[in-house]
Amino acid sequence: MSGKSDDLVLVINSGSSSIKYQLLDPESSAIAASGMVDRIGEPNSGIEHHAEGRTVEHHGPIADHTTGLKLVFDMFAETGQDLAGAGVRAVGHRVVHGGEVFYRPTLIDDSVLAAISELSSLAPLHNPANVAGIVSARKLLPDVPQVAVFDTAFFHGLPDAAKTYAIDAKVAAAQGIRKYGFHGTSHEYVAGAVARLLDRDRLEVNQIVFHLGNGASASAIRGGHPIDTTMGLTPLEGLVMGTRPGDLDPGIVPHLMRSAHLDIDQVDELLNRHSGLKGLSGVNDFRELQRLIDAGDDASRLAYEVYIHRLRRYLGAYLIELDRVDAITFTAGVGENSPQVRADALAGLSRFGIEVDPALNTAKSRVARHISTPGSEIAVLVVPTNEELAIARAAHRIVAADG
Ligand code: ADP
Repeated sequence: MSGKSDDLVLVINSGSSSIKYQLLDPESSAIAASGMVDRIGEPNSGIEHHAEGRTVEHHGPIADHTTGLKLVFDMFAETGQDLAGAGVRAVGHRVVHGGEVFYRPTLIDDSVLAAISELSSLAPLHNPANVAGIVSARKLLPDVPQVAVFDTAFFHGLPDAAKTYAIDAKVAAAQGIRKYGFHGTSHEYVAGAVARLLDRDRLEVNQIVFHLGNGASASAIRGGHPIDTTMGLTPLEGLVMGTRPGDLDPGIVPHLMRSAHLDIDQVDELLNRHSGLKGLSGVNDFRELQRLIDAGDDASRLAYEVYIHRLRRYLGAYLIELDRVDAITFTAGVGENSPQVRADALAGLSRFGIEVDPALNTAKSRVARHISTPGSEIAVLVVPTNEELAIARAAHRIVAADG
């Protein structure tokens, strides 16, 4: 195996029908293996496993997460990495919802697992899948410490005015209704990278981060601490996403139930899987959207305009909330790769001290970089996110501290 195996952390990000994984060195960030189990529970499940310069595939039905992970372990063995025998240092699990309970990476025992499971009422599409991943990994690697890293943790300390929804306070308290925020691991990782790029202390930097992937969110961070973020009780709120609408008039939900006779599961399905770019244009992938726009498709053009309009609305809000802003940063699939989105999101804002340099913006690069002009008061940056590395480092830290 490349690298000392006991330095490596296995990171598992398990979704409702998929498991993404990486085996990596938290110090050097070198990846020893990675892959994805796809379409769990469907007849055409599959696994793609990359290791030692090779790709190994598996095709055929995979009934559940445990079966998927077991097959992944077999594939590790096939590429010469005996995971069970190799003494991996820790398994780091991405867990979407930590509720009010979890606000830092946490070593998993039976009671932590039960608490994550209980939080499923707040994240019915996510936490059950995370629990399935944890249960499977504990079965397959019973002697390796498992650590949960929560998407909500970074936003735990949001100010009351930002996290409180203006509904009946007793109902909100009874149901745990508040803004929790998600993508926290990415926002925190990127905010740290921004401070390093600016050569400033993280606690001095005021910044806005746009994480634009399939899911999308923005955060306003003052001196290292988030003061606002776009996602809310669930990852549905805020920016327009691949299949999710972001902000909506809440009255739309009862209207759909009364007038279109949708039941609550159908509304959930509509909002989570058939809205956002997909709902407006038929496609959720940004590259396909761009191809359709180039081919003159009006619905796709409108989807793009709604997407940019929403970004700018939050940009304006966060410029005011933060007052002084040192950096605006784009990250994740769209943020890192679409100069068009970055240019349109920040167009015409020189009076606010924001000037994108067209040549820097369109230059191809995979590293953290400036894309603003030297005269831009606010630095505009592109910083590749790396949630797996952040999870691996957090898991490694917890395990090292635990002795
Ligand atoms: P996830 O939320 O699944 O982690 P990613 O951060 O990988 O998502 O982002 C996926 C999105 O990034 C997709 O919409 C994809 O089309 C978009 N994307 C990837 N590469 C490019 C590119 N070169 N130009 C525009 N969009 C891109």
